[in-house]
Amino acid sequence: MKKIGILGSTGSIGTQTLEVVRHNSDIQVLGLAAGSNIDLLEKQIREFKPELAAVMDEGKARELAVRIQDTGTRVTGGMDGMLELAVLADMEILVTAVVGMIGIRPTMEAIRSGKDIALANKETLVTAGHIIMPLAQERGVSILPVDSEHSAIFQCLHGEHPRTFKRLLLTASGGPFRGYDKKRLAKVTLEDTLKHPNWVMGQKITVDSATLVNKGLEVMEACWLFQADLEQVQVVVQPQSVIHSMVEFEDGAVMAQLGTPDMRLPIQYALYYPERRFLPGDRLDLFTLGTLTFERPDMDTFQGLALAMGAARAGGSMPTVFNAANEWAVRRFLRGEIRFLDIYEVIRSSMERHQVKKAPSLEEILEIQADTDQWLESRW
Ligand code: NDP
Ligand code: MG
Repeated sequence: MKKIGILGSTGSIGTQTLEVVRHNSDIQVLGLAAGSNIDLLEKQIREFKPELAAVMDEGKARELAVRIQDTGTRVTGGMDGMLELAVLADMEILVTAVVGMIGIRPTMEAIRSGKDIALANKETLVTAGHIIMPLAQERGVSILPVDSEHSAIFQCLHGEHPRTFKRLLLTASGGPFRGYDKKRLAKVTLEDTLKHPNWVMGQKITVDSATLVNKGLEVMEACWLFQADLEQVQVVVQPQSVIHSMVEFEDGAVMAQLGTPDMRLPIQYALYYPERRFLPGDRLDLFTLGTLTFERPDMDTFQGLALAMGAARAGGSMPTVFNAANEWAVRRFLRGEIRFLDIYEVIRSSMERHQVKKAPSLEEILEIQADTDQWLESRW
């Protein structure tokens, strides 16, 4: 039996991870954690019978504890609960599928106690990659990518000498507004933004995909995961989302990983790496597909990517500011309080006022996030 825990089990990645568990008979779920959706968490507890369940909202944690008294599952609450879950004895892999940089501390604790990480939570790596990657190496822990592009690159690099790649060709769908100019983008609504052409995902990443902030976060994520320089990562718009990413090698060979858009594949690949398993679902039919097309990203209109590149170039604490400002802006946008293009303004203004701190500590990262939030609250 493979023993896993899931942070963010009630979300898009979390529920798909549990689908993977359901159709394989050799994974045992030891821990499940959510933010506040205890209705779904209760169902998951009754089906998967974990040892421990953690709920970030402490009031909801107490309510859940009463509801599931008849089960053998213990309930914990708050950040302490997340941290307890992250280090559960016997757990081999922690799937980090919470949204946002709230994932940093549990991810670090899990690595410290020797758990492999199946990483979906990219915000953690973007803000604390300089702490997490060396820590993982020191503890002999694998960081297994779940993000589809990074899983594709990981699959293309399998069996290759990691230092022989020349470029990582990170594909992007372009989101729902591909081809729009600034004038049209100024008028888009929340409802338009939440309609992703190819993927059904959580709301935050769906907004990030529309702004191209997601692709910017993924460029930084790729640099950490594969020890690539920023210049080695090229974003390629591939509107059909069939090529999940590519690697160009020293000799000019380009390896790609293709498939129907289905997150269960990278999730399952991370859980069983290096083994491949049967996965039920649609197969790619190239004759039905007919064409694959490619475009350059429009970084002038979709400034999320350009701002991310700027943050990555500045390095140190700037990616934290980029990410924290974006998390703040997306929360506001989802509540209907700011417009689509304001997201770029929020990020730009936050980055402009920030003095870069090299290699910030965990405490400094969290302070910078709090300071960015506070400044944005007073300004917008
Ligand atoms: P969802 O919004 O669908 O799910 C987020 C999960 O995190 C839920 O279980 C939620 O609990 C929990 N959560 C939210 N806030 C907190 C909090 N403050 N403390 C603890 N738990 C919290 O997100 P996704 O599954 O779409 O994304 C998760 C991560 O994976 C993100 O980092 C995203 O960028 C990444 N990712 C997602 C992909 C996708 O296809 N969805 C693809 C590639 C990467 P509750 O339900 O109780 O609110
Ligand atoms: Mg992705």
